[in-house]
Amino acid sequence: MANFVLQVPSIRLRSFTVSASSSSNGAPPGGLGSSSGGGGGGPVIVELPLDKIRRPLMRTRSNDASKVQQLMDSISEIGLQVPIDVLEVDGVYYGFSGCHRYEAHQRLGLPTIRCKVRRGTKETLRHHLR
Ligand code: ADP
Repeated sequence: MANFVLQVPSIRLRSFTVSASSSSNGAPPGGLGSSSGGGGGGPVIVELPLDKIRRPLMRTRSNDASKVQQLMDSISEIGLQVPIDVLEVDGVYYGFSGCHRYEAHQRLGLPTIRCKVRRGTKETLRHHLR
């Protein structure tokens, strides 16, 4: 009797865990927020084409060439381990950090980069540009 009661929830928990992890690591959601399960508030991990990410501060900051080279070597070997942070405002993506990882991807000729995307308003964007 006790064994029967214990087995049922463990089976349910296992199948729930598998489906939750495959949705977060699998194909990107069709739209940010709508598929994040949290009502649109939480960040989402997606692969974005490099040319879809605007980098407004790119010309004002220069990267450390040796860091970029080290990242290129490491990314080629083990892949990007930490996604770059990206802000989405009205369907447009903006990157303000992760500059070395972004350049490493560019130099490696990779078409996409793994991003942690969170939604923001125009006010958030203005704050980043100040
Ligand atoms: P960035 O301008 O991209 O933030 P930094 O040199 O300041 O460059 O930091 C590099 C970041 O890249 C670190 O947070 C590190 O954890 C992360 N990272 C992600 N993938 C890799 C990788 N394959 N090898 C080394 N660092 C990596």
